[in-house]
Amino acid sequence: MSEPPPDRGMRRARVAAAGTAAVLFAAVGALLGLTTPWNPLPGHVPGGHTAADRALDFTPAEIARSKAFDSALNPPAYSGLLVGLAVVLALGLSPLGARLIGRAAARVRRRPLRVALAAVTLTTVFRLAGLPFDVWRESVLRRYGLSTQSWPSWLADQLKSLGVTWVIYTIALLLLYAVIRRFPRYWWAGAAAGGLVLVIAVSFLYPIAVEPVFNKFHPLPQGRLRSDLLTMAERDGVPVKDVLVADASRRTTSLNAYVSGFGSTRRIVVYDTLLKSPPARVESIVAHELGHAKRDDVLWGTLVGALGVAGALCLLQLLMTSPWLLRRAGVRAGPGKDGGAADPRSAALLLALVTVATQVGTPVQNLVSRHIEARADAHALDLTRDPGVFVSMQHELSVRNISDLAPNPVEYLLWLTHPAGPARIAMARDWARMHDVPVPPPLRSP
Ligand SMILES: [Zn+2]
Repeated sequence: MSEPPPDRGMRRARVAAAGTAAVLFAAVGALLGLTTPWNPLPGHVPGGHTAADRALDFTPAEIARSKAFDSALNPPAYSGLLVGLAVVLALGLSPLGARLIGRAAARVRRRPLRVALAAVTLTTVFRLAGLPFDVWRESVLRRYGLSTQSWPSWLADQLKSLGVTWVIYTIALLLLYAVIRRFPRYWWAGAAAGGLVLVIAVSFLYPIAVEPVFNKFHPLPQGRLRSDLLTMAERDGVPVKDVLVADASRRTTSLNAYVSGFGSTRRIVVYDTLLKSPPARVESIVAHELGHAKRDDVLWGTLVGALGVAGALCLLQLLMTSPWLLRRAGVRAGPGKDGGAADPRSAALLLALVTVATQVGTPVQNLVSRHIEARADAHALDLTRDPGVFVSMQHELSVRNISDLAPNPVEYLLWLTHPAGPARIAMARDWARMHDVPVPPPLRSP
């Protein structure tokens, strides 16, 4: 079979796609460079910065437990990541994936149905490949008393999450393949615009469409804590209609709180596991979440993320129209309307490229996230002016969640969205020195 003749129009389209990707990535880089709080606690710290030292506040037993938990969790985490990547690359960079989709959709003539079947088949295979490692991880959580779920209820969660993935991938692929077919040369423009809109829509709808699939939420009941939290939000100038409690205890003993959505779907959620902590500590956590709300961190993260996704979709056209990659993926490159990237069997190559791009983006995302989290911590300290309570809450968080107290550089790159507990505690001591407030003494008596 001979190569199709070089297509000058296509070449021009590819140059435009590459140029647009460069502009979008430069914009993301500039926005992150300029708006990330690289120094989350600005100002002079009398006596210099406090060094993070876990031995000040954590007992040898607590440190040992954290180390043991970390070494138990690392094997399933790393092997799961590697096997997942290997499977997705094997499917996408060899004809295996195209063959698999071809077989799954063998009797289906209608194109949209073939695309949907490709989405469902690939995401299911990918999830099945990860399942043994998820079971492994869950059994570690169980051994350490962090999971409160029965296996059937855990499995139900996995199925629900697979269902959500099916819906999101099917919608995204249906739109993408429709654009590819309609605009064989300039689909990157439609895909980039569509990707931008889709990321924003998903982030907006997530709290009302996806979160209720996994948890029940109810307003924090009337009482002292509720009125204190709402008064604090008002003092902070953050409009908060409600604080919601998630029934997390049916799944975990760990503590957490978060903000999700933006605009009319923005909500502050605390885990019900947190409500057993002293009210002042809960206030300290909610003050951190108010920091996110006040800075609109979710909206900002969504907008920058959406620009990055748009840039990645421009690059996607360059890769998906590469005859070499298409040949590797077992998809015939051709001038026809249904060949090459437009063939739904190219979805395996697509998933491989998307997975690699996501993996490459993770360390950057984590780096930026850790600084935004530290800024929310600084906000909590400014608002509550109680570093002592902040320190005891961070200690409780680290101990109850068995957090890694001394992550290594690879763990920072791959997994850490928040600064480690000892660093957060050290920052509270810096804050106290800067504001002439008594510096919280070490939690361990010397
Ligand atoms: Zn946070």
